[in-house]
Amino acid sequence: MKAEIISIGTELLLGDLTDTNASYLAGQLPLLGIDLYWISQVGDNQNRLVETLKRAWQRSDLVLTTGGLGPTEDDLTREAIAELMGEEPQVSPLLEHNLRERFARRNLTMAANNIKQATVIPSAQAITNPRGTAPGWWVEKDGHIIVAMPGPPAEMHNMWQTEVMPKLQQKSTGAIIFSRTLKVYGIPEGTVEEMVSSLLSSTNPTLGIYAKADGIHLRFTAKAKSQHQAEEMIAQSETKARSILGDSVWGKDNDTLVEAIGNLLVDKGLSLAAAEYSTGGLLTTSITDFLNSPTFFKGALIVNSNEALINYGVDAQTINDYGVISPEAAQAMAEAARLRMEADIGISITGVVGPNEVEGKPVGTMYISLDSDNHKNTIAGLYPGDRFRIRRWAATAALFRLRQMLLNPD
Ligand code: ATP
Repeated sequence: MKAEIISIGTELLLGDLTDTNASYLAGQLPLLGIDLYWISQVGDNQNRLVETLKRAWQRSDLVLTTGGLGPTEDDLTREAIAELMGEEPQVSPLLEHNLRERFARRNLTMAANNIKQATVIPSAQAITNPRGTAPGWWVEKDGHIIVAMPGPPAEMHNMWQTEVMPKLQQKSTGAIIFSRTLKVYGIPEGTVEEMVSSLLSSTNPTLGIYAKADGIHLRFTAKAKSQHQAEEMIAQSETKARSILGDSVWGKDNDTLVEAIGNLLVDKGLSLAAAEYSTGGLLTTSITDFLNSPTFFKGALIVNSNEALINYGVDAQTINDYGVISPEAAQAMAEAARLRMEADIGISITGVVGPNEVEGKPVGTMYISLDSDNHKNTIAGLYPGDRFRIRRWAATAALFRLRQMLLNPD
């Protein structure tokens, strides 16, 4: 089955909105064995919308649209599909009843223009939308299908998962495509490629290597008759890759680094405290993004001046003797965070994020320290890029350093 996605809305063309609906659907179609050939974006203009739909209808078996199902005049998806089909939208008494009930339940008055959300054409079946007022449309004629879904991502995802995907699953006869991503840190991209070169020549599953903010991703993709078969094919390659890359593989698929580290801390019953100078709490934010962080994370000192560091218990002599951008300061910060917050491990970052050098140290200089009862360790790095990239590199490097310490405590 050949598919095409059309994202509808002028906001997309103005650059105000990123088309996450299309990315979401593009990620879903391989799971159904449906080939995606085109993605288009079109504004809220009936002529151009009809033109785009017509081209899609002619060249694709399945057209998925999102957006333009609202009640206002610039929501034109229904009108455009009706024009393409040469059919007249008519109010469905059942849809009207449901819509009026929805407004009544919320004690809201229904505006007159909402009635267009209760219309269908003869070739369309309404698709229920428990999250919003706009039902979708499933239009089927002459062996082609158009599925019109709402724009708000939460409504669209829900409609896709509960209504559209199960229906398409019954129709699709193609091979399914399944992917698994292994996440690696601490080895440069080129070296990873060399290490797993024996897996790169395979055509099913294929292997792609990508550099991302949290390290290198190895994406295995298999095409098979069933998900089970594809998973088995990938499992063999995954086992080989894991044995080659060892501990550098820190997670898979949607795992986040903090989740992986948080789980290690929780398993070991250890707590963590942080100190950050010049990174504005980016490390702390990454840690607290993890839902489970309150079970192991005691807190952080986030400071931007020497006085504040000293006031919060970092050894004044060390700061005065070595400066704040120094391995000694980093170590003193990690220790102060650990002791003040009575944690098992202290982690710290200090460095220069720009635009100017500090204490004669160039922009990008970063020191990262770990401190526990029996472990003291500092690394130095010189990271490239702008303020945000330097801070992100440092926060990621600090987390990986912590992971290394947790895996190899001696
Ligand atoms: P509504 O009933 O809310 O008007 P709709 O189906 O008419 O729904 P639009 O008005 O086109 O949808 O879009 C509503 C909102 O949904 C947009 O402002 C945007 O926040 C989100 N949205 C729409 N299309 C997309 C898209 N392609 N990717 C991500 N978000 C989108």
